[in-house]
Amino acid sequence: MMIPCPHCGERSHSEFTYGGDASVRRPDDPTGVSDQQWVDYLYIRVNPRGPHREYWHHTLGCDQWIEVRRDTLTHEIHDAATVGLQIPQRS
Ligand SMILES: [Zn+2]
Repeated sequence: MMIPCPHCGERSHSEFTYGGDASVRRPDDPTGVSDQQWVDYLYIRVNPRGPHREYWHHTLGCDQWIEVRRDTLTHEIHDAATVGLQIPQRS
């Protein structure tokens, strides 16, 4: 699988470290959520079959975190961007 790093170009996935689901958001006020909501945020993840947003760290490259939109069924990479920048949405 090749990952298009926005800083380095196409690189083998072996240069990257998977960083988890990019769609999970930390609660704005951690003290305002229940213990179960906190557990859900920390540990509960969906196991999607198809398009998925993921964090990847270019460990053996530019040392930057990127957000990748990947199909978990085909491993096709649709888009990648530096974390914090919006991935353009395709229609
Ligand atoms: Zn890179």
